[in-house]
Amino acid sequence: MARKFEGSELVIASHNAGKVREIGDLLKPYAIAVTSAGALGLPEPEETGSTFAENAALKAHASVAGSGLPALADDSGFSVAALNGAPGIHAARFAERTKGVRDYDWAMEQLHEASRDAGDDLAWFTCALALAWPDGHAEIFEGRVAGKLVWPPRGGHGFGYDPMFVPEGYDETFGEMVPDAKHEMSHRAIAFRDMIAACFNDTDG
Ligand code: IMP
Repeated sequence: MARKFEGSELVIASHNAGKVREIGDLLKPYAIAVTSAGALGLPEPEETGSTFAENAALKAHASVAGSGLPALADDSGFSVAALNGAPGIHAARFAERTKGVRDYDWAMEQLHEASRDAGDDLAWFTCALALAWPDGHAEIFEGRVAGKLVWPPRGGHGFGYDPMFVPEGYDETFGEMVPDAKHEMSHRAIAFRDMIAACFNDTDG
């Protein structure tokens, strides 16, 4: 049985303003004061884990240590079957054509070139969420959406590898889907739904 979140304050363990906004929006119905690792000036921990779950937990525990408050972290990435699951947890770093600068047009082309002759177009996005408390306890949730690689990339919505990925059961790439449609069924949405069901009391009804 997962531990319930009974607090009134939560730190979002991220320095990415977009991620903080998206997670803050998802938590709006739960009457929680939300702040972020970035806003509190907490240092960014090194992502030394070998799984999404480990990296999410590491980020959440680092924010708890720096703030004394419970914290929620997300770690996500993109995996290509023909490349044995790469770039996976390294998806953000993989896109750094030059250090510190992400170029997703280039990164998608690299993945396409490396996998095009493999005869396997399976790919998937993963999102792990870690909710951690000051006593060291953490609850972890993982969402995954499988689909196929397409080339050339299509669509101007979303971010990252979205334009080269068509989720199973759909015709549009994540990049072609309007944001609300993606947010209904994405890897992040699945992990969030599970976390909310397990750890948060719905205040709507
Ligand atoms: P993180 O901030 O360390 O979790 O890195 C996540 C990286 O995975 C992003 O920078 C993207 O490269 C990739 N990624 C994760 N989720 C998505 C998504 O929904 N669409 C496209 N790319 C994603």
